[in-house]
Formats: sequence, C-alpha cells, structure tokens
Amino acid sequence: MIPASDQREPVIAFIALGANLGDARAAVVNAMDQIAGLPSVQLLARSALYQTAPVESSGADYINAVVKVLSISPAYSLLSLLQNIEQMTGRERPYTNAPRTLDLDLLLFGSATIESEKLTVPHPRMRLRAFVLLPLHEIAPELVPAADLLRVAAQRIHKL
Ligand code: ADP
Ligand code: MG
Repeated sequence: MIPASDQREPVIAFIALGANLGDARAAVVNAMDQIAGLPSVQLLARSALYQTAPVESSGADYINAVVKVLSISPAYSLLSLLQNIEQMTGRERPYTNAPRTLDLDLLLFGSATIESEKLTVPHPRMRLRAFVLLPLHEIAPELVPAADLLRVAAQRIHKL
C-alpha cells in the first residue's frame, strides 16, 4: 500500500471554506478562484454560498461553501497550499475559534485516513456542522447520509 504522503495519482478532495470578518462573501469567492488557479489542482465543482450562524465561534454570520477538486498534490502539500491562501487574506489566529477572514479546511482526501497533529482527515467535526454538510450535500449528495442532515437540522443556515 502507498502511504498517503507518497501519493502522486490524482485524488478527489473536498475543501470547506468559511469567513466572517470583513467582506466574507468576497473572501470566499476569491478563495475559490485561488484554489481553482492552483497548478496542482483542478476545480471540479463549487457549491453555492451559504450564510450560517457561528458554531463554537463568535461575531457576524459566516459565509460558507464547499468545493470539490482533483489534486495531484499529496494531502499535506494541499493543506500547505490552502494555508498559503489563508495567509494571503491576512488571517490571524488570536485565539481558538476566533472570527476569521478565511478558513480553509480539508474535509476529505480520497479515501485517506490521516491522523496527525497537523492534519486529520476526514475532518473530525465535519459531520456535526450544517455549514459543511449542506454545501457538501449540494455537490456530492452520495457522501452525506440523511441521518447526518437530520442531526444538524436545528443549526441556522440559509442558501444565498
Ligand atoms: P479550525 O479548526 O477552526 O479550522 P484553524 O483553521 O486555525 O482552526 O486550524 C488549526 C490547525 O488545524 C491547522 O494548523 C492545521 O494544521 C490543523 N488541521 C488538522 N486537520 C485539518 C484539516 N483537515 N484541514 C485543515 N486544517 C487541519
Ligand atoms: Mg481551519
């Protein structure tokens, strides 16, 4: 078996985008464009934008979305590329779950299971969050069981 870190074949990955500081809508749309422009990534699908109540966070409502990509970068490299895009938006991390100009989380990387300090895939909290599950369901319904949607039904989310 090839370790996930040595992967060179294209892998389908899903990335969650979120922002709630400044022009959050522009930040998410720009980030989608920047992801689409990465040389090692092909953008396959992008969800609509969703406006959501902060979960375990504070401040204004969030703008969220999910994209599906084909990546020839291994998981850790893809994470680094996403963190570069976060940095370019001037993201700061004053404290855990602080409001953010842009958050990019790797939800799924093919069928890989990764558990390290830097990277956990599948993302450990994705199945508890309406702001991930609804946009993911929009572009990949087969990945979101009805029971998951039911579990997050009380969370406020509005498709834009
Ligand atoms: P949040 O958990 O709210 O997204 P951050 O964006 O500040 O918080 O991420 C904190 C750390 O989480 C990052 O430094 C990154 O190394 C780590 N991390 C672990 N798994 C993932 C993942 N699947 N996607 C993105 N970051 C991850
Ligand atoms: Mg993050």
